[in-house]
Amino acid sequence: MKAITYAQCPVELPLRTDPEPVPVVGCGVCAALAAQRREARLQGDHSTVSDCNVELRNHPHPKEAA
Ligand SMILES: [Zn+2]
Repeated sequence: MKAITYAQCPVELPLRTDPEPVPVVGCGVCAALAAQRREARLQGDHSTVSDCNVELRNHPHPKEAA
């Protein structure tokens, strides 16, 4: 595969318009992150809000068993 040496169109990153993750009822991690996110938002700490959202999305949950 040849390296591309000519100019290419700029990559357009999609705007993040995902809805914020919703805490799962009964999950302590979700509850803690949601509380932390709320506090951070009140303080205008968007970096921490974003971190909380990432954690909310990514932390493991036990499979919802019947
Ligand atoms: Zn959770």
